[in-house]
Amino acid sequence: MQRRPNRRTFLKTGIASALLGPRLDVKAAGAGFLPVVVSSGNGLAAAARAMQEIEDGRDALDAVIAGVNIVENDPNDMSVGYGGLPNEDGGVEVDSCVMHGPTHRGGAVAALRNIKTPSNVAQVVMERSDHALLVGEGALRFARMHGFPEVDLLTDRAREAWLRWRENLSTRDDRLPAHSPEDADVGRAASLPERNHGTISCLAVDGRGDISGVTTTSGLSFKIPGRVGDSPIFGAGLYVDNEVGAAGSTGRGEANLLNCTSFAVVEFMRNGASPEEACLMACQRIVDHNKVARLRDDEGRPRFGVSFYAVSKAGQHGGASIWGPMRYAINTGGESAHHDGAHLYRRG
Ligand code: ASP
Repeated sequence: MQRRPNRRTFLKTGIASALLGPRLDVKAAGAGFLPVVVSSGNGLAAAARAMQEIEDGRDALDAVIAGVNIVENDPNDMSVGYGGLPNEDGGVEVDSCVMHGPTHRGGAVAALRNIKTPSNVAQVVMERSDHALLVGEGALRFARMHGFPEVDLLTDRAREAWLRWRENLSTRDDRLPAHSPEDADVGRAASLPERNHGTISCLAVDGRGDISGVTTTSGLSFKIPGRVGDSPIFGAGLYVDNEVGAAGSTGRGEANLLNCTSFAVVEFMRNGASPEEACLMACQRIVDHNKVARLRDDEGRPRFGVSFYAVSKAGQHGGASIWGPMRYAINTGGESAHHDGAHLYRRG
């Protein structure tokens, strides 16, 4: 059922036909609504939990949020919620958005501190305010008002990783990593740990064919305080159209913000592309718009990664990354499994 387009022929013919092709007509295609949950590769447990909730008759949005709560609460996942890597000042700022397909409503929070499960706050923004996005101190006050407990999100493990980054940032400041008095190279930028990207996105179609999605993250590690990525922005890190499908994304948020790419994935599907084709087209869109020299390698390819996950109303699913190999998590009942997605380029 999942078809892997050959990149070259797809890019030559697929984009044109997908853009001009027939609108997705689920009823004409005779599709039933088989529940399906699609998530980023780190979402096996989240997808299984979401499917359980859907099987118990819960709304798809409640289901995907219950799924990602597992990762948000996990201190060992250093890219989402509690235990996430902090910003450059050592403060953990989390971002999330949710979209409820049947009512086309959404809620989001950005640069939120001290709350373990930003996806729940995003849902309350959707349900208990006339706004779609709250940020920073205002988002925290709103969360407090609704009874969310405040917690220090910085675990010791994340603090130590941040300290290592901070102490190795420059040889021109006075901070030094642990070293012996004989070490002449102490504090060299060469030993900087990798900047960390990581996020969970989770999308579901329930048995009624209603679609919802959530994306939640602590964002780019060691970011400038106040930096907001794509995850809490509708159309960038998540988009749901109940008539068509949903898309979510992980990776370099700035690329999604500048290309509205999750929205584009859903529009590509509306125009006839399969979820995998649509995700690949979104990757190509980013590559085509990536004109800044510092973000391109010698062959003009992006020096960063972005991945997309998508599901159609008919329950087809797919994923693609700029850099492969990529895989995403799927649950159609029972155990979750990883599925291979497509990619534009392969490392190594
Ligand atoms: N997209 C997230 C952001 O830019 C991070 C990630 O998915 O790796 O904040």
